[in-house]
Amino acid sequence: MQRQPLPKFVDARKFVAGGMKIHASQQVADLSRFAAGLANTSGSVDVDLRFFRSEQGFKCIVGAAVSQVEVLCQRCMEAMPICIEAEFNLAIVWTDEQAKALPKSLDPLILGEDEDLVLADLLQDELIINTPFVSYHDDAVCKVFELESEPEPVNVVSDAEEGDTPFAILGQLKPRD
Ligand SMILES: [Zn+2]
Repeated sequence: MQRQPLPKFVDARKFVAGGMKIHASQQVADLSRFAAGLANTSGSVDVDLRFFRSEQGFKCIVGAAVSQVEVLCQRCMEAMPICIEAEFNLAIVWTDEQAKALPKSLDPLILGEDEDLVLADLLQDELIINTPFVSYHDDAVCKVFELESEPEPVNVVSDAEEGDTPFAILGQLKPRD
C-alpha cells in the first residue's frame, strides 16, 4: 500500500459522509511541535485514518499513527530510538455540550461548520500525548554505565588482600616509631 503525503486540510464532515480513508506518511521535521520534544527531527510518521458515521450517528475519525523517532536518554543525554504509537477514536462535534454527551469510547474533536480539519495538528496532538515523559537506554547500552565501569574498583580489593595497599605499608612502618 503506497502512502501519500498527509493532506494539509480536509473537510472532515465531507470525509465522514464519503467514508474516506487516509493512508499517509509525514516527515517528523514537518511536525514542529512534536519534534520539539525529540532528540532530533529524523524519522517519519505513518498514519491511517478512517472517516465514517457510526451506528449511533456519531461522525467518527478512527485510526492509528506509528513513528520511529529519537528522544534523549535522561541518564546520558544521548539520542535513543523509540517507537511512539497513537490511536485515534474521535467524534466530530460542534460544541462543548455535545463533547460532554459523547460515550467514553470517543474523544471529542470540536470543529466549526466551515472549519477545515488541520490533519498535522491532530496528528501532533495525539503523538505528543503518547510521547513518554522521560526515556532511558537499557542499562547494557547506556553511556552512563560505560563511564562508571572504567575505574575497575575490583583491583583495589584484591590489592588489599595481598597487603600491597598504602594502608598495609603504613601498618608495616608503625612498629619503628
Ligand atoms: Zn543513556
